[in-house]
Amino acid sequence: MLTSIATVSLSGTLEAKLRAIAQARFHGAEIFENDLLTARSTAREVAAQLRDLGLTCTLFQPFRDFEGMPDDLRVRTFDRLERKFDLMQELGAGLLLVCSSVSPASSGDRSRIVTDFRELAERAARRGLRVGYEALAWGRHVFDHRDAWSVVKEVGHPALGLILDSFHSLARSIPIESLREIDPARIFIVQLADAPIVQMDYLSWSRHFRNMPGQGELPLVDFLATLLEIGYGGPLSLEIFNDQFRATSSSTVALDGHRSLTFLFDQAVRRLAPRFLPELPPRATPGGFEFVEFAANEEESGQLESMFTALGFSRVGRHRSKNVARWRQNRINFVINSEPESFARAYDAVHGASVCAVGVSVRDIPGALHRAEGLQIPRFSQPIGPGELVMPSIQALGGSLLYFMPAGREDEIWDCEFLAAGGGGPDAGLESIDHIAQTMPYEEVSSWLLYYVSLFELAKTPVAEIADPLGLVQTRALESPGGGLRLVLNASTGSRTLSARFVQGYHGAGLQHIALATGDIIATARRLRSLGLPILPIPRNYYDDLAARFALEPALLDELAQLNILYDRDAGGEYFQLVSRAFAKRFFFEIVERRGYRGYGAANAPIRLAAQSRYRDDIER
Ligand code: MG
Ligand code: MG
Repeated sequence: MLTSIATVSLSGTLEAKLRAIAQARFHGAEIFENDLLTARSTAREVAAQLRDLGLTCTLFQPFRDFEGMPDDLRVRTFDRLERKFDLMQELGAGLLLVCSSVSPASSGDRSRIVTDFRELAERAARRGLRVGYEALAWGRHVFDHRDAWSVVKEVGHPALGLILDSFHSLARSIPIESLREIDPARIFIVQLADAPIVQMDYLSWSRHFRNMPGQGELPLVDFLATLLEIGYGGPLSLEIFNDQFRATSSSTVALDGHRSLTFLFDQAVRRLAPRFLPELPPRATPGGFEFVEFAANEEESGQLESMFTALGFSRVGRHRSKNVARWRQNRINFVINSEPESFARAYDAVHGASVCAVGVSVRDIPGALHRAEGLQIPRFSQPIGPGELVMPSIQALGGSLLYFMPAGREDEIWDCEFLAAGGGGPDAGLESIDHIAQTMPYEEVSSWLLYYVSLFELAKTPVAEIADPLGLVQTRALESPGGGLRLVLNASTGSRTLSARFVQGYHGAGLQHIALATGDIIATARRLRSLGLPILPIPRNYYDDLAARFALEPALLDELAQLNILYDRDAGGEYFQLVSRAFAKRFFFEIVERRGYRGYGAANAPIRLAAQSRYRDDIER
């Protein structure tokens, strides 16, 4: 796979963009004309920089409003073209993108368009250059790759080819099967972009909402698999216009871009097996969260232990050589890491006591690590003591870590690393981790989404918008097949929502809540009350509304109200939720009981957010 990315996809100066592109291991770059016009370097200097960085210039773009011009404008258009050819030769660019005309002055006369392109091809050939024709989704006369291809075919000149752009084709729902009509040797470059499905004009949709393959909802895998199947072997180049990406560091976006192409190619190739062989092991199927690790200094660890005790956890183990304790309740493992001079301590110094790592069970750890490496997700390593195991881990959200645990052999790891200690009293009926919710700056959501879905076998659920008293919060869940691992990503554009204040207070992205599953929420709630867990109070009005919405037994309703339990129902069944007060205003626990319910209590989130916001105000006042 030859990878490329358009400079327009990235923020910063042209010079910085090219460095980021090379660092992310792309083979080439499309030079967007505006980036060159605003650069301090001359075209020749940019050519030298490309050479030094080992990058190919895959495309110079765009040349607009070329075809079908009336005679007087036609002469000027060709003059303009010759000047661009001069520039391309200085730049070392061999291919020019001509996008279909949007000019009101242009004619849709077919023979005229063909004549123009024939002359264009001849002029390009004289200079040893090539030109590709791209159908813009909003082109005036040509807006379908089938029409652009028919022009290219009719001109029949080796210097003129087709440029495909997944956005233009898929936004207009042009049948992917039509790609099979194209001679793959005449496709000079394929531009790739995904996008969410939104109802708006093509131009605005394209200019602001394109995103990386895998981040949107267009059928990119079908598109690429079909191109590979017909024998296309040229560059795959990202061309992403996105407001958020332009506000994010170029190195992050370039790395995400490369990751998205690797992931897309991997999916397409898997679809075509055994004709094509994947380069990477398959996505890891996560069994679930095996543990959650909390960083805490000596003082904070005492507070954390009190909270764990009030949740019905017991301290069951201590690490052989480090100041690390294991707390457990049924299948839930919490680790408190208070080891000085450790990753956890450094994390705690930045964020305060909080979750610094999670452990995820997977069947094939070497495979998962190999895949992470292929996706350019860095490994993490720290010094280990005598007799300790190397716990493989990778860098994760907000500078935290993600450990891989061997599925089915987790106990061996615990027994090897931890000495039995204590044990405990009766638990609170909490059985497993239902989900964890991570909160992040709005512009990081698509990046972390890609991180998770490219590495793990996880399905995306649609984005839900939740009303916070001070703005909107967007939330999206990722689920493994069978629901063993559920993860919720939250973010908001507003600066005063709970999500936004979390990010500010936390100094970045992090874990905001952990939902623990019980089989009997009433019994668990009573037990937690007797253990003294501080619970978030829910206003009585909520229960009056519940009574109006659902036909619940008055006795049950009363019980829910007394215990501050939230209720929801979907096509799958019922959901009960209880929310703890936050630990140091940083993270909280949710207790949930699912009776076939599939969601995450989005209907109750505004109630929960309002209650949390009120409680925050109370303590801040
Ligand atoms: Mg394009
Ligand atoms: Mg939740």
